[in-house]
Amino acid sequence: MDVAVVGSGPNGLAAAVTMARAGLDVTVLEAQPTVGGGARTLDLGLADGLVHDVCSAVHPMAWASPFFQAIGLERRVELLVPEASYAQPLPGGRAGVAWHDLERTVAGLGADGPAWRALVGALSGHASDVVRVALGDKRSVPTGLVPRGVATAARFGLGVLEQGSAAWGLRFRDEVAPALLTGVAAHAITPLPSPAAAGTALLLASLAHAGQGWPIPRGGSGAVVAALVDDLLAHGGTVVADHPVRSRRDLPDARCVLFDTTPRTLLEVLGDELAPGRRSALERYRHGDGAAKVDFVLSGPVPWEHPDVARAGTVHVGGTRPQMARAEAEVHAGRHADLPMCLVSDPATVDPGRVRGGLRPLWTYAHVPAGSDVDVTEAVTRHIERYAPGFRDVVVASRCVPAARMADHNANYVGGDIAAGAVSLRQIIARPTAAADPYAAGADGVYLCSAATPPGPGVHGLGGWFAARRALRREFGIRVRPLAGA
Ligand SMILES: Cc1cc2nc3c(=O)[nH]c(=O)nc-3n(C[C@H](O)[C@H](O)[C@H](O)COP(=O)(O)OP(=O)(O)OC[C@H]3O[C@@H](n4cnc5c(N)ncnc54)[C@H](O)[C@@H]3O)c2cc1C
Repeated sequence: MDVAVVGSGPNGLAAAVTMARAGLDVTVLEAQPTVGGGARTLDLGLADGLVHDVCSAVHPMAWASPFFQAIGLERRVELLVPEASYAQPLPGGRAGVAWHDLERTVAGLGADGPAWRALVGALSGHASDVVRVALGDKRSVPTGLVPRGVATAARFGLGVLEQGSAAWGLRFRDEVAPALLTGVAAHAITPLPSPAAAGTALLLASLAHAGQGWPIPRGGSGAVVAALVDDLLAHGGTVVADHPVRSRRDLPDARCVLFDTTPRTLLEVLGDELAPGRRSALERYRHGDGAAKVDFVLSGPVPWEHPDVARAGTVHVGGTRPQMARAEAEVHAGRHADLPMCLVSDPATVDPGRVRGGLRPLWTYAHVPAGSDVDVTEAVTRHIERYAPGFRDVVVASRCVPAARMADHNANYVGGDIAAGAVSLRQIIARPTAAADPYAAGADGVYLCSAATPPGPGVHGLGGWFAARRALRREFGIRVRPLAGA
């Protein structure tokens, strides 16, 4: 066999597709009975025929990803674009709304509209350059960035410095726009303000007004997995589920192995074979704060107090900027926040097909301390209820996966760290180590390709794509155009 890939998340499948399209014999080994890692859509048995996105649900990085663009994702998966990418309900029945349409957003933000246009709008007009900067391999100057995208890169960098520091409030006059941006920053699950959170915010906020915004795949995230698996099989690859790789003995005899896993798993499996320097660097890789998932079944839409919130594909339930910063600080200090940051998505907002027998899934997760075993269903319900009085009355069923249990269904989410590694400034740049090649694992033919490598978390397949391109060159001498054989 030419190539074994350990793990079938988006990055593992992206690596496998890239290698298979280069004509190699590829097998993907997946520990779980179901394929797709953080992009699975499953029937949790909560209501007849209802399916839930057990991890990712909303996909700005998928449409923007050069990997998914290269394999023509938009031809294979219908990405449904909500009228509003995301919304931020606020105390007193107010709300900030990031419409897909930038100018509508600016108009809705009143005195802070021009500030939003200058900070976020200016980047969304050059989204492909923002993607080159934020979703690159953090080691090379992205192709095509120079000279055209240099101004965007500089603008992005200055925005990170501003929104990642104590200066983050200077450009805003009201509390709605800063809260709207902070809801996005909170995706990093890290203290606020911080450069890592600011980078996350500017990338995702700029994508919200560009291309396909923050889309939801018809039928759920599993559609993305199905497209990748179909492509892999069509190019002769194989996927084996229920095959945890715990030691060298669980691996087939392959010239090259790519790990879509945490560095910790790589160390457990092949630690003895890695160069000592790389091994100790990987041992220093840090996991981050946690998330606890709550999947609800509802008898109707969430009764948001502000009607525009119901038009958003994603809702950040966290209140004002200071409230979110306090909640994230509590979590980082190892304590449960009274009002934890919650992410909420009702896919039926754009995909009525997700409703079955009048019931709909509601996807939520809350930020909690790493390793927390607390069932947060009541905390999430209470927090949503603050902005949607009567929410409790539409809840028919629910299921919580506490942070401590997240790794049961995906070993990459250690202690509920859904980013597969802390999102800190250091670990954004030196992810997983400061080595010149972040994918080479320190042993011949062995690579890491998961979200623990650049560009980091999200469904974009880029860690897999970048790692596979290096492995193709180095292990097989193949320098064909990436994804030849489409
Ligand atoms: C609750 C939650 C919500 C999220 N929301 C979003 C979102 O809306 N949008 C977004 O873009 N991203 C979101 N993410 C993040 C996104 O899902 C991940 O960043 C992405 O899936 C990472 O892809 P990956 O291929 O690196 O790893 P994963 O998708 O995590 O896949 C890793 C795979 O490797 C397998 N594996 C691990 N160890 C072994 C082993 N020893 N042997 C065999 N197999 C193994 C796992 O079972 C898994 O299938 C979310 C994640 C979670 C958990």
